[in-house]
Amino acid sequence: MTAAKSQSRIAIVGAGFSGMAAAIRLLQAGQENIVIYEKADDVGGTWHHNRYPGLCCDTPAKAYVYSFEPTANWSSLYPKRDEIHDYCRFVAEKYGLIPRIRFGQEICRAEYDGSGHWQLETRQGLKDTADVVIMATGVLHHPYYPDITGMDTFAGATVHTACWDDDLDLSGKRVGVIGTGATAVQLVPAIVDQVGTLTVFQRSAQWISPSGNKNTPQERRDMLRRNPELMFDEYHRVMEKIETLVEGLRTMEDQFYRDLRDACQAHLETITDPELRRKMTPGYDPGCKRLIFADKFYPAIQKENADVVIDAIQQIEPAGIRTADGALHELDVLILATGYRMHDYMRPMGITGADGLALDHVWEKGAFAHRGMTVPGFPNMFMLVGPNSPLTNYPVIAVAEIQMEYLMQLIQPVLDGRYASVCATPAATEKFNKDLVEATANTVWTTGCDSYYINDAGIPNVWPWSIDEFKASMQAPELSEYLYERPAGLSAEVTVQKQLQTGTTGLRERG
Ligand code: NAP
Repeated sequence: MTAAKSQSRIAIVGAGFSGMAAAIRLLQAGQENIVIYEKADDVGGTWHHNRYPGLCCDTPAKAYVYSFEPTANWSSLYPKRDEIHDYCRFVAEKYGLIPRIRFGQEICRAEYDGSGHWQLETRQGLKDTADVVIMATGVLHHPYYPDITGMDTFAGATVHTACWDDDLDLSGKRVGVIGTGATAVQLVPAIVDQVGTLTVFQRSAQWISPSGNKNTPQERRDMLRRNPELMFDEYHRVMEKIETLVEGLRTMEDQFYRDLRDACQAHLETITDPELRRKMTPGYDPGCKRLIFADKFYPAIQKENADVVIDAIQQIEPAGIRTADGALHELDVLILATGYRMHDYMRPMGITGADGLALDHVWEKGAFAHRGMTVPGFPNMFMLVGPNSPLTNYPVIAVAEIQMEYLMQLIQPVLDGRYASVCATPAATEKFNKDLVEATANTVWTTGCDSYYINDAGIPNVWPWSIDEFKASMQAPELSEYLYERPAGLSAEVTVQKQLQTGTTGLRERG
């Protein structure tokens, strides 16, 4: 590596789990000139912003860590938000990330200048020039506010779970919760005993597997602390189990899947009232939506003061929610557990690539990327956990780590000065996305449910192959898929436009 290029400036956007993974890996490789832009005033991303009652990890926490930094601190199999946030802080401090983070700085504009540099600007007015930009913005940061008539007319308090108001007093109140995803399933048991009445408005029922959560005794934690190799063993053992789960759900084929389905069904049958059980029975196969692991939701909705309404929401009125059957459900507080705009990724950031190409334009019909990380026409810009990365029940931390190993190899020729820029070729991106669309055809995500896995064009926005195939594909970049300099005379706009017209990028198939 030449002395000059070891000074390549690398900007990482986001100090959540994936941005921290990127920074740590770059520092390990001797890249010191890195900066992390973070819109919040702390690390942790979604684990910083989310603080609704009941929030905990719904992935076994032994595997919800960096592979190189397991911890003995988890108080249970699925620890609460504060423990996970503390872990983020601990890692950020241990690996020297804090001084490199520009807190309270939200990148709002990123423009490629055509010669291997990105001009960056934050909403707060900071400017920077970077050789490489890594977008580590995650998918759980734009709360989704449903477009329901009369939303603004509600006379009580309205709160989205992603923007929880710590001062909100629910004691004795008539509380409505819209949504029954992973968030609502954690929230409802946490508040049901505090509120006066709790009405859950459910559009679709969810499959919920028992989680088997239990506390980890202090003696066990002390023992693990004394034997770090056991923590690593546990990490790998739990990751293997998660991979079996993800694979079982994806293919719906083996005995594992049948057993899981039986476990979800048996769990559902713990609802004693047949009418409530009927309401809570999904009309699709487990795994079509992200499978939820939770023990306390079914007991909570069977409490005296709880009710589940499945009539469609017609409108919101000052006094509450009116459903399609004409009933008015009077409420003091309305909680939106309606999830996120997952497919926005780093937007609304204004991103302009080569020759003035706007990312908004390229993604008009849906976000796509080459191998989840790069978009033709946007040299030296990479995403972690971007479109079609493995999401489902596989920990995003592992995804980011695996992608980072690949990325390090991809950008090395740029970092050591042999090339000004690297970008996926349109042809490789087209082939990858075409194969992807074909591979999603017979997977669990297309078996008859609507979920956030499905993008605007109706195509599952997930990794459709096995996790083993994901890891294999991330072993080393196939260099023929990348352009280490822009082809002379052919603008990125023309290239992408051509693909849009011929329908050969996967964009047409998506749109
Ligand atoms: P979600 O899974 O997208 O669920 C949103 C819920 O809101 C769904 O039940 C949806 O109904 C409902 N909804 C949306 N718009 C509606 C409308 N107009 N009328 C009625 N209902 C409406 O969101 P989430 O529960 O926040 O979970 C999102 C993801 O966050 C999870 O899948 C998971 O990846 C992550 N998460 C992780 C943890 C963790 O511990 N690690 C915890 C919580 C969340 P439909 O099902 O009919 O669309």
